[in-house]
Amino acid sequence: MLVEEVCCQAATGVEYRSMRRGEAASGPPASTNEETMTQSTRKTSETAKSGPKAHLIDMDGVLITGNQAIPGAAEFLNRLRAAGAPFMLLTNNSRLTPHDHHARLQSLGLEIEADCIFTSALATSRFLHRQRPGGSAYVIGEAGLTTAMHDIGYRLTEHEPDYVVLGETNTYSFATITTAVRLIQGGARFIATNPDVVGPTDQGQVPACGAVAAMIQAATGVQAYFVGKPNPLMMRSALRQLGAHSENAVMIGDRMDTDIAAGIESGLETILVLSGVTSEEDVERYPYRPDRILKSVAQIKP
Ligand SMILES: [Mg+2]
Repeated sequence: MLVEEVCCQAATGVEYRSMRRGEAASGPPASTNEETMTQSTRKTSETAKSGPKAHLIDMDGVLITGNQAIPGAAEFLNRLRAAGAPFMLLTNNSRLTPHDHHARLQSLGLEIEADCIFTSALATSRFLHRQRPGGSAYVIGEAGLTTAMHDIGYRLTEHEPDYVVLGETNTYSFATITTAVRLIQGGARFIATNPDVVGPTDQGQVPACGAVAAMIQAATGVQAYFVGKPNPLMMRSALRQLGAHSENAVMIGDRMDTDIAAGIESGLETILVLSGVTSEEDVERYPYRPDRILKSVAQIKP
């Protein structure tokens, strides 16, 4: 899939450059090639640290709410493009593929290319690809997750998988949860795409990945490793894909415990918008604060 290819290429390039930089700094005198590499690294690094800020943007409660775009969201995206500011949508929703998200946003009047949408399913598959390339997994989830797992060449199986990978679905079944429990008891490692215990629907909140993970944890005594926000892994993956540096990046979100916590822990500037689940009074209950609190993205000028 194109998205994954683009991601992996960008990631590999940046990693390679930073590795060479490390070697040149501590190793013997660099050869001409290495000097060129170091110079280009310095240039890339300087570009990443200056210029327009990279924007990591949460989706639900920031750009859309239910089945509507937040007023001013389309204009905000236009301002980012006009300013040449790289941006990426970060969503813990692992149910949909980036193309599904793209189509859904388009139907709400928001034009965002699929390769600018980074889901916890993509973050999870990339994490597994690095940890254990070409492995196997028993997956509970929908197309967003199964597609991402196929794209990294993972075999999806119930027979002695390396991992049980739990994502979001509207059709959690007792049979699949039982299978997951037995596989984990048999030695499979337990990964979950995101720790959210509830998720939004038009009819109200529904139990989400974090709640089902808690059930499996209770049954097995094995804790899941959650890859989605607030795990800084997700922010770092997105920054790497944008070729951006955390010092020149901002995280915009509507949740203190995921978006703002993740932004702070990754060293980003943080903006809390009040167009989602958090009110200004709620902020006081947390031991950390965002750099800025705004009514919505309509107020953000890149
Ligand atoms: Mg949100």
